[in-house]
Amino acid sequence: MKCSVCGKNVEENVLGKIEGTLIKVKKDNKNELVAVCKECQKKENLKELKRKL
Ligand SMILES: [Zn+2]
Repeated sequence: MKCSVCGKNVEENVLGKIEGTLIKVKKDNKNELVAVCKECQKKENLKELKRKL
């Protein structure tokens, strides 16, 4: 899975959980889950990220 902000690969741990977060965004009236890596998550809060996606 790729980070939707920086485009880097988001690593998954052994449990299949991503090293970051999944955010629900609306695209063309559809809800989509996009991945955001933990670095981008640290840099900006979720509201700011959502506006960019
Ligand atoms: Zn990122």
